Amino acid sequence: MIGGRLVREFSLGGALRFKARLMSCLVLASFCCAQGVATSAETPSRAPDAANVSPIAYKQTLTAQCGSLYRLLKVPMRDACEGVIAQGVEVARSHLGRPIFALRTGAPLTDKSATRVLILGAVHGDELTSGWLSLKWADLAPPMTEKRTYSVLHVPIVNPDGVFGAKPSRTNGRGVDLNRNFPTPQWNPEANRWWVNKTKRDPRRFPGHAAASEFETKYIMRVIETFKPTVVVSVHAPLGVLDYDGGGPLPERIGSIFLDSLGIYPGSLGHFGSRSRGVPVLTVELPHAINLVSTEETKRMWRDLFAWIDKYANYDSQAK
Ligand SMILES: [Zn+2]
Repeated sequence: MIGGRLVREFSLGGALRFKARLMSCLVLASFCCAQGVATSAETPSRAPDAANVSPIAYKQTLTAQCGSLYRLLKVPMRDACEGVIAQGVEVARSHLGRPIFALRTGAPLTDKSATRVLILGAVHGDELTSGWLSLKWADLAPPMTEKRTYSVLHVPIVNPDGVFGAKPSRTNGRGVDLNRNFPTPQWNPEANRWWVNKTKRDPRRFPGHAAASEFETKYIMRVIETFKPTVVVSVHAPLGVLDYDGGGPLPERIGSIFLDSLGIYPGSLGHFGSRSRGVPVLTVELPHAINLVSTEETKRMWRDLFAWIDKYANYDSQAK
C-alpha cells in the first residue's frame, strides 16, 4: 500500500469513510446524468406501462431491497444494509418498475488513470447469494497497489423483479433470461435455436423475443458504453466455478473457486462483453444460491479478484 488521498479516505475510520463514499455516490449521480446512464429522471419514458407498476415498488430504496434480500436468505439483519449501501443511486427501472441501484467505490471518476471495474449481482433473480455477495463487496474498499487505483461501479441487484417477485425466479418480470438477451453476433436465430434445441423450451432460459428487448439488458449495455469498464465481474450461483471470457492472464482462482470454462451461449453477457465490446467478463459462480459464503471467504475473494484485475490491467496497459 502506498500513501495518497484514497488511502487516507479509506483508512481514517467510520465517519470519514462514510463521508468519502457519500461523495463518491454524489459523483456517481452526476456521472449518470452526464454520461447518459439511465437515471430516475430519465426513466419515465422507458418505464413500462403504469398499469404494470406497483406504486410501492417506486418507493423502494436499496436499503429496503437489501433488507428484503436478507429476509429471503433468512440471515440476521445485524449491521446489514447500512453505510455505503444506503447511499445507492437509482439508475434504472426493471420491467415491473422496481428501481435498479448502483453505487461506486474507490477512486473518483475524475481519476483518469484508475482502472474501472463493473461488478454485477443477481442477474438471475433466484441466485440470492450473488446479490448478497455483491452488496457485501460494495462495503469493501478496493485495495490499492503500487501503481494502480480502482474505480468500481457496483450494481448489486440487476434483476429486482426476479429477486423480489412472489417467488424468486431466474428470469426478469417478463419471463426473460437476461443472460441470454444480450445482442451477441447471430443472436437471431441462434438464441432461439439454442433455447428450443438445447433447453427444450425451458421457460427459465427463455432468451426473449428480440435481442436487448429488456430494460435491464439495455441498462447494462449503456453502463458498459458509458462507464467503459476495464473488466466486468458478474456474480452468479450455484455452479461453484469461474468462467472467463476474455484475453490476458487467466483468473485461475478467486477464494476457493477455480477456473473451469462453462462454454459459450448466445445472448450471454460474457459472450457480448468479450466478443462485441472487447471487455473481458469474469463470471463468478458461487457454490450455493442460498447458503452464504463466510465473511473470511468474502474478503479473500475480494483480494484475489483485485490481484487478478491488477495483473489484467498491467497486461492491458502494455498491450495498448
Ligand atoms: Zn446465473
